[in-house]
Amino acid sequence: MDQPPVHVLDLNPDDLQSHLVELFGPEIPSYRAKQIFEWVYRHRIHNFAEMTNLPRSIKELLDLHFCIYASSVVQNRPSNDGTRKLLLRWPDGATSECVLIPTEDRRTACLSAQVGCPVQCVFCASGVGGLDRNLTTGQIVEQALRLIDLCPDETKLTNIVFMGIGEPLANYDAVIGAIRILHAPWGMGLGARRLTVSTIGLPQPIRKLAQEGLPINLAWSLHAPNDTLRRQLIPWAAKIPLDEVIDACRYFFETTGREVTLEYLVLDGVNHRPEHAEQLARIASAIRANVNLIPYNPVAGLGFARPDDAVVMQFEQRLRRLGVNVHVRHSRGLDIDAACGQLRRQNQNPRS
Ligand code: SF4
Repeated sequence: MDQPPVHVLDLNPDDLQSHLVELFGPEIPSYRAKQIFEWVYRHRIHNFAEMTNLPRSIKELLDLHFCIYASSVVQNRPSNDGTRKLLLRWPDGATSECVLIPTEDRRTACLSAQVGCPVQCVFCASGVGGLDRNLTTGQIVEQALRLIDLCPDETKLTNIVFMGIGEPLANYDAVIGAIRILHAPWGMGLGARRLTVSTIGLPQPIRKLAQEGLPINLAWSLHAPNDTLRRQLIPWAAKIPLDEVIDACRYFFETTGREVTLEYLVLDGVNHRPEHAEQLARIASAIRANVNLIPYNPVAGLGFARPDDAVVMQFEQRLRRLGVNVHVRHSRGLDIDAACGQLRRQNQNPRS
């Protein structure tokens, strides 16, 4: 067979049914695609052979022309705090990371959108080396299914965040395709409010996202509250002034009714001065956003350090006095290099 197998996780029921008609002819019953998706998303089977209500002749041809899972699990790293990180390898050799973060009341999957990242934030392991390629819709969905396989029996994912490797809104079509499958009743069936897209702040895609009719959550990874510092930390910010992102976030809130969250990595000695608190408070007030402060998880060789807890607390209290609804969120899985990009980077270069 010359063509690579079609990745079932890339498809919606109409697409799959069209493929089936092409392969088996128009006499194939119209319920076959629905049956296949039930096996994939409800029963979470990995092989066509296990689809007991399909004729053997169909299963054999499906096995030749389609695949359900395209990746192999290269690493499966458990953390002391229950976090699990997977490194997946795709048929072209590219690798991507995804993380399962269990807490008392939820099981959150953190997914990657790209292989590498074009934004190249100076504090981030994922940006080192730039972008290799985008992930496809099916590859994004497959990360979620691989993480469900790590959940104990009878439990499933409760939340999905696009906070792994890559800028989700720079791979817009594939990410929206995946969100629709994760949300669809025939797919993973997750409520839109349980899905969060995190972006470094791309105004046009934020406006487009607002118009998708999906009331998902938007997190703006701000990290720097003025244009000068932002340009130093986030190279893409050179072309995107803060005011443009603020306008787009306002539009998102007005259109979807969903509040935007500001994510703010606290980098020791860099972005937690009193004037930073004032600037951050002004932005939070302009878009009516809550703020999550995340003490930085250091990456070897990038030159940034984790601030003392007292420093973070002082910054948090200053923000609170300025009227900001702020919380400190700690990175999970520090012992497994869970900060995005670290595992993949180590896998590429063991000495880094
Ligand atoms: S912080 Fe996000 S946008 Fe920036 S380089 Fe890392 S993955 Fe890319």
